[in-house]
Amino acid sequence: MKVCFNQATTMKKSTLEKDLEFCEKYGYEQIEIRTMDKLKDYLETHTIEDLANYFKSSRIKPYAFNALVFFNNRDEAGYKAIKDELQYMCEVGQKIGCKNIVVVPLVGPEKFTKSQIKESSVKVLNELADIAEKYGIRLAIEFVGHPQCTINTFGQAYDIVQAVNRDNVGLVLDCFHFHAMGSSMEDLERADGSKIFILHIDDTEDFPIGALTDVDRLWPGEGVIDLDAILKTLKKIGYSEMVSVELFRPEYYELDIEEAIQIGKEKTEAVVGKYFDIE
Ligand code: ZN
Repeated sequence: MKVCFNQATTMKKSTLEKDLEFCEKYGYEQIEIRTMDKLKDYLETHTIEDLANYFKSSRIKPYAFNALVFFNNRDEAGYKAIKDELQYMCEVGQKIGCKNIVVVPLVGPEKFTKSQIKESSVKVLNELADIAEKYGIRLAIEFVGHPQCTINTFGQAYDIVQAVNRDNVGLVLDCFHFHAMGSSMEDLERADGSKIFILHIDDTEDFPIGALTDVDRLWPGEGVIDLDAILKTLKKIGYSEMVSVELFRPEYYELDIEEAIQIGKEKTEAVVGKYFDIE
């Protein structure tokens, strides 16, 4: 299992350069790059070729872009913007060797039935997958464990992935999101591990289902998520690719960037190392 760093963890104070420097220092194999802010800021003073050259000469590699947001149930203008953004991500991804893009379902107060959500998601994902395929890039749906997210459980996301049935469309299993809307462990047990492209690891405070938000996240092993059960099940279904530490906690944003990156690695290895060999 390769250990990856998700830039959300140090989002408030850090930069792509700093995250890369400290991730390399503490032995992370991979990074998930935030395109909406960290990549954008980096490109104000660097080129994409600079970044490609950095990765050529470093141990750390880019694993995924975060994120193409609100892909389903959009109006025409919104959908066009998504396609344009995907096109850009694919072009950059191809240049730097980043082969996965996290795609986030629509979150908001407007209500859609489950069949409306599935119908839109399957159609849109097929069209987006056509674009990504030309660049050898995969799309990973990240269900969000919040009542207002149109796809908010593992089972619902997996059903859509199965309906799409393409090699380059899979999902992100974020342990916080899995716990936060009470996703079913039986659904995970029945899943094909090769359809999980990304594992986000974290933990959470003990608020009830439906009340949890990203700021409640804790370092892996410090909260109430049954990470042992999730990791054991992942092992059983054949998942062993990578694990990415992803926090959004205001208190952790106050830490030194280097310290947060070091703690993230240690906490992740302590939890995941019980079930998987860390590369
Ligand atoms: Zn996540």
